[in-house]
Formats: sequence, structure tokens, C-alpha cells
Amino acid sequence: MDNLAFIAEDEGFELIDYNPHDNSPGFTKLIDELSIRKLIEAGKTFTFLNKNIKLIFINEKMDAEDKLYALAHELGHIRCGHLKNGVHQTSVQEEVAANEFAHYLLHPPVSYKLKKWSSVHKSPIIVSLVIIMIAVIAMVIIHQVTLENSYYGEYYVTASGERYHEKDCITIKDKDNVRRLTQEDIDSGKYTPCQICLPE
Ligand SMILES: [Zn+2]
Ligand SMILES: [Zn+2]
Repeated sequence: MDNLAFIAEDEGFELIDYNPHDNSPGFTKLIDELSIRKLIEAGKTFTFLNKNIKLIFINEKMDAEDKLYALAHELGHIRCGHLKNGVHQTSVQEEVAANEFAHYLLHPPVSYKLKKWSSVHKSPIIVSLVIIMIAVIAMVIIHQVTLENSYYGEYYVTASGERYHEKDCITIKDKDNVRRLTQEDIDSGKYTPCQICLPE
């Protein structure tokens, strides 16, 4: 977490660990000035950016692992240049890109680790070690295949709707034609964020 916070600060962002129920005058004034009440009340993690203000809001109620992932996701938006003015409404493609960024930041692929390792150990690799490595890689590939569908993030759509939603959104809860967003849906560019669950 400290490393990610350092990256954020390096980019000029300040982290705000907020309590969604904070009614203090200072905080109330800030969220009204930035028009972010809806996001705060929903307990979202998001980035606010304009010419003078660079803030990343993180819900302090989340557990440590969720915070780490959420911050990595926001760094994805920042590094990929998704953010414009205020609270930018990101497209589903941008959400997926931020999720992938977060995924690779927190779980670098084996090929990257191997490259780093071999650049540290210049000496020739012993055959037996290679065999062990291959076994490890095979295991990791199997693991990555099972993970493959999860690092996109979990977004849902209905057969007729043009909004994408968080898993627990009330507007899709009782519908029976809900399905998980696919790569095809992402490529279609048809989906925009739901205004109720605010997928960020
Ligand atoms: Zn929704
Ligand atoms: Zn996002």
C-alpha cells in the first residue's frame, strides 16, 4: 500500500481516506464544492482531478486488500490518461483497462518475474532448475486461466439494456436476463455506466 501511495503522490495526487458518514463541516463543504456527494454516499473509490485539485478518495471502511486493489485501479486510470475534468465518467473499456492495470501491478506475470530474476542472476541456469521452472510455469498458467475471467472486474448487463452495472446493483437484482459483461460487449462500445450503482 505504501508503494502505491508513493506512486500516487509522485503523480501529484493526495489520498483521502474518507468515512462515508463523515458529517463534519469541512468534509461536507469539500464534497459539495466538488459535487461528489453521490459517490461519497455510495462509498466509492474514485479520483477527482481538475487544474488545481488532484485527489484520490478511498473509503476507509474497506478492508486492506480491497483498498490496495482500488488504489491500483485508480492508478490505472491516471497512468492510462483516462481522467479529464472533475469526476470523469469512464467507459467500460476504460474500467476494464484499469482493472487489468491493477491486476498486473499486483500480480506481475511470470515472464516479467523471470526476466527480472535472470537479469539479477547472470550465471547460466542449471538444467534441473529449468525443469523446476517449467513445472512452476505450467502451474501458474493453469492458475492464470482460472483467473482470466476475474481480473476484468465483475460487470453485468441485461439483454436489452445499454448500461453496465456492479454485481449488486438494485436495478438488475430482480431481472432474470442478467449476464456477465463479455469481451464482445466491451468491444461493442455500446455500454455506458449505470447512474444508480456508478461502476467506477
Ligand atoms: Zn446499476
Ligand atoms: Zn474505474
